[in-house]
Amino acid sequence: MVFLLLSSYVFSAKAIELRWQKGETFSEYLDTKGIPQSILEKVDEGDVQFFNEIHAGQKFYELVDEHGNLLQTLIAINSEMQIQLYKNPETKEFEFDIIPIEHETNEYFAKVEVTSILYNDIVAQIGHKMLAARVSYALKQAFNARNFKVGDEVSFFYTQDTRMGMFYGAPHIKAIMIKNRGKEKFICIDEETGRGYDGTYKMEPYTVTSKQKVHYTVGDGGMFSLPLQHIRITSPFSLRRWHPVLKRYRPHHGVDFGAKRGTPIMAIGDGRVIYAGWMRGYGNVVKIDHGGSIVSLYAHQSKIKTKKGAFVKSGNVIGYVGNTGVSSGPHLHLGIYQNRKPINPMNMISRDSKGRSVLKSIVKYEDVDEIFYKKVPIPNAQENKTKLLELLRNQESSYIWKNMQKISKKEDEADS
Ligand SMILES: [Zn+2]
Repeated sequence: MVFLLLSSYVFSAKAIELRWQKGETFSEYLDTKGIPQSILEKVDEGDVQFFNEIHAGQKFYELVDEHGNLLQTLIAINSEMQIQLYKNPETKEFEFDIIPIEHETNEYFAKVEVTSILYNDIVAQIGHKMLAARVSYALKQAFNARNFKVGDEVSFFYTQDTRMGMFYGAPHIKAIMIKNRGKEKFICIDEETGRGYDGTYKMEPYTVTSKQKVHYTVGDGGMFSLPLQHIRITSPFSLRRWHPVLKRYRPHHGVDFGAKRGTPIMAIGDGRVIYAGWMRGYGNVVKIDHGGSIVSLYAHQSKIKTKKGAFVKSGNVIGYVGNTGVSSGPHLHLGIYQNRKPINPMNMISRDSKGRSVLKSIVKYEDVDEIFYKKVPIPNAQENKTKLLELLRNQESSYIWKNMQKISKKEDEADS
């Protein structure tokens, strides 16, 4: 019955593609069409839910006669089924049904002349934006678009599902032939990804996971490394903090790392020692000039193991953790100054070295993924190539989508 209805409409009817209005209910839709609300009472209870699931912006179709009278409305409820509201030709009454979505798949051939950008040429000459996008994508890796010359030709064939004479879903490009500056170039398409290849093979990546030795070395990559092998921050950098010994608010122009007395302290970067000795408050202290007006300071040391004027490398031991000067327990106070202004040391230490040893390189065995490539034949490539060559011999004209019987109230957003 349904198919008879459809086919009896086909010759005089026109399909209109529309989008469901925001906030519009199905009953309001019936009002706009002058269809009595009473027909809603006939909707099966199990089907009522589908009427509520129609959402704003959803595409739907109206089939109208030559006078513009509604014959049928089709609203998809998923990719397979649709609500059909149709005028029964015998009773002249509207009825509902839920029917499968009928769409057909056809193959189309296209030949496009390059006049500017291929995408624009396809849109102008074939009238199918999504097709233009798919062809451009397919060529992305296989052909440098800059090499196109005005007068070049791009031929291809593709499949497109249609529903009531309109696009249904995206096209699938099968094969492309480029006539570039008189030379022919064949592009095979991997239908799974839509990518084009210059040849019937593609390189497919695969991953091999293996245990590999990984070296983490001192301070590579970052500006500064950590001054201790293991760090535990006991007091952060602060412009105003409660000083536990002085029992007053004081700025803390450095960061305190708790550590056992005697723990080796390492230079955080290469530089020249500009101070190594006693300073009030800081006890045994070392200052290193790293160049660029940056100075680092290591305070409260139990013992200093460098001299003023010495050149040190990042990771060199310059002293040992202690409790000298004004200090509530063994710890390292690390200060960093730029142009004599204190800055937060944690902002100067490379991310990579945070929480890791910087004394010596660490060797770890880690899972490492390596990507290899293998040559894989593109499915149907040879077959599609043969077919395209045949189409090129026998067919001149392209199927022009913009000439099809279609009234679209709004620009099809999905195609742009
Ligand atoms: Zn401190």
